Amino acid sequence: MYGGTLHEPAGRIETQDLRLQPPRYHCAMKKNLHPAHAPCPCESGEPYAACCGQWHAGLNEGVHAPTPEALMRSRYSAYVLGLIDYLLATWHPSTAPGELELAPVKWLGLEVRHAQSAGDAGVVEFVARCRDGGRAQRMHETSRFVREAGRWYYIDGQVEEPAEPGR
Ligand SMILES: [Zn+2]
Repeated sequence: MYGGTLHEPAGRIETQDLRLQPPRYHCAMKKNLHPAHAPCPCESGEPYAACCGQWHAGLNEGVHAPTPEALMRSRYSAYVLGLIDYLLATWHPSTAPGELELAPVKWLGLEVRHAQSAGDAGVVEFVARCRDGGRAQRMHETSRFVREAGRWYYIDGQVEEPAEPGR
């Protein structure tokens, strides 16, 4: 993952300088990894380590989310935790941005409405809630996923218009 050379401070190399760098986080995000036993941010009810955490940790070991829904959940959790590398790595190269900067919103919850896959294509409909400044927002989206070489990728999402009352 961080296969590049580490910069060595001139004339002073200590073993701790040679540790792998931690994942990149959005500057506004907390700098600690999510506790393994804490509830997963995707609100599955599972501990983080048994849910999205295993896909976050397994990214560079060939351990990938096995279904579109699992990938979608892990990407939501990655937004919550500010795991930019994970978001980019699970975004299909045809649609992935070269760089990703996360808006400093507070994510409040996820509800997966519908998930299905057929062959190497999948869709997941979900509602994610967040607070942007003082404003609460709902993001209702149907995301598309594709599987290549046994690995699912996010392609894009279509925003579902909120149902207008009275129509
Ligand atoms: Zn999860």
